Amino acid sequence: MENKMFFYNTASKRLERFVPKQDGKVAMYTCGPTVYHYAHIGNLRSYIMEDVLEKTLRYIGYDVKRVMNITDVGHLSSDADTGEDKMLKGAKREHKTVMEIAGFYTDAFFDDCGKLNIKRPDVVEPATNCINDFIRVIRRLLEKEYAYESGGNIYFDTSKLDEYYVLSNQSEKELLVGVREDVEEDGNKKNKSDFVLWFTKSKFDDQELKWESPWGLGYPGWHIECSCISMKHLGEYLDLHCGGVDNIFPHHTNEIAQSEAYLGHEWCKYWFHVNHLNDESGKMSKSNGDFLTVALLESKGYEPLAYRLFCLQSHYRKPLKFTYEALDNMEAAYEKLTKRIGALEKEGEIDEAKFVEYRERFETALCDDLNSSMAVTVLYDMLKDGMSDATKYALAESFDQVLSLGLLTAHAAKAAGQEVDAEEERYILAKIEERKAAKKEKNFARADEIRAELLEKGIVLEDTREGVKWKKSNS
Ligand code: AMP
Ligand code: ZN
Repeated sequence: MENKMFFYNTASKRLERFVPKQDGKVAMYTCGPTVYHYAHIGNLRSYIMEDVLEKTLRYIGYDVKRVMNITDVGHLSSDADTGEDKMLKGAKREHKTVMEIAGFYTDAFFDDCGKLNIKRPDVVEPATNCINDFIRVIRRLLEKEYAYESGGNIYFDTSKLDEYYVLSNQSEKELLVGVREDVEEDGNKKNKSDFVLWFTKSKFDDQELKWESPWGLGYPGWHIECSCISMKHLGEYLDLHCGGVDNIFPHHTNEIAQSEAYLGHEWCKYWFHVNHLNDESGKMSKSNGDFLTVALLESKGYEPLAYRLFCLQSHYRKPLKFTYEALDNMEAAYEKLTKRIGALEKEGEIDEAKFVEYRERFETALCDDLNSSMAVTVLYDMLKDGMSDATKYALAESFDQVLSLGLLTAHAAKAAGQEVDAEEERYILAKIEERKAAKKEKNFARADEIRAELLEKGIVLEDTREGVKWKKSNS
């Protein structure tokens, strides 16, 4: 089939035509979440844009198989093999076992994905399911002398490679300084950039999950899981690997090193990275505890799909700054857009020529380095065009296979969701009056209490210039 998709390949550092190894088929791998806490909306930006990429590939005719791991062991608080295991940290925080934490936050992650219309990958594999696969690959790396045992741990020997820093623009020397600054010295490593494949010794002996291995009781490093899970389900050749930009180094760099050392040939040709979502204070991170989640946006009355639209309106390679003001604008735009589509008459004659013209424009935008905001512009343009409602409706339906904004259903669902019976309405209005009175008396604690009471019943209050408005929350 015709390969018309172009995107920026981090491996070649340029815009490239995407040509999968097998005609018409795509083997795609995505680094999954570390399930020690809720995903923040920054993580979800990466998953939204990867979802758009996957759906674009399907839209233009590829048969895609997508695999994602769930990191439930081995990801330490520094990406460079130091610090405590993030899962253990989560378990201690909540006085639960690591597996309980993993189960809970894996479900929470897919709930969030559901609310954002992110498709579940064809295969989802937790790292703890694959310990024997990791051991087998590490054994082979030892046999091939790409790995060595030192101080009880197994390390990958980066000096055995002709080129280690394949994904980075920085020179080897600069990166070495970075590594040195980041990491507490590990005297067992032969080279600063070597990384752990299997731990039997760590500073944190209370590691809850440990497995028998030829090197003693221990647990795998983080990087090895993605190489092994990818090879297990997608074979020796991977077409496309995705993640956020923070995964480029060391995680993806190490994945390439160990996979190619193991396989003896090139492993993955195309690397797709999504830039970060930042808040006012900088990069969002789960480790600082207080972070933005889908649930938080919902509790403030936002429609999660308005956040999806917010992400689609900016280019995936640019950093994106989150502000509530920007989200307010997006929420208003989303409402207007879905209302307009909801009002279209769907029965009638379809103008085939127009349909093809707009579909082509839509594909061209997405095939141009996944220009999702241009794709949304094509949607707006076609709504303004003077063709039949039925043609517009059919195009909106088609575009939504990729945009996944609930374009056809959001308006009707919202209208139905806002219906309350007369008694409920009386109750809400009485509470609003009571809150107004409390505020007048400067009893803000009571006013907040009333807001919380209503929220408990699924009603969100909004203080607007025209007075207090209420709506049903989305959860
Ligand atoms: P984690 O759960 O920490 O393993 O991260 C899950 C995914 O989110 C990875 O692909 C990260 O690269 C990505 N990620 C982390 N922080 C951000 C952010 N602020 N904006 C966008 N993506 C992010
Ligand atoms: Zn990974």
